[in-house]
Amino acid sequence: MNNRTRARQIIEAAQKVDELDCLYYFVEMDVPRSLRTAPDANLVAATYPAGWIPVVSLVPDPRIAEHYAHLLCALMEEGNRGRGIVFRVELTSRDVLDGRGLKWYVWGEAIPVRVDAICAVCGGVHRVTPGQSPSCPHAPALAAGAGMYGGNWWGGL
Ligand SMILES: [Zn+2]
Repeated sequence: MNNRTRARQIIEAAQKVDELDCLYYFVEMDVPRSLRTAPDANLVAATYPAGWIPVVSLVPDPRIAEHYAHLLCALMEEGNRGRGIVFRVELTSRDVLDGRGLKWYVWGEAIPVRVDAICAVCGGVHRVTPGQSPSCPHAPALAAGAGMYGGNWWGGL
């Protein structure tokens, strides 16, 4: 865990060697026992859409990045109110994200993959970014609950 002092030390060290662009904020969840996917999986990165970790780059200004990270954290809290999850902003690095084979993207930018979403109404196949609306004319009906198969369209990545 990074407390604020430790995080500041890491940020200052990265600035000295011009590697601030290797650091990112993410939102960590402290998950209650009833929601854990494994007994020891109490601390996990928050994802949105499901399976994708949004991160905030510390470049160009770590102080501004911290504000954005807290906004992201507040959105995660709001979307999970009443579930007993504790959210907090933590620091990580590109090495950790890539080294663990995690799926991540810079919050606000497009997720760097495309998936097939198959329309449940017409069977049309649409290449989309996870969480993005397909160009199918049935998209409004699907958004109302008709469903879209493949590409893990509604969460479940
Ligand atoms: Zn369709």
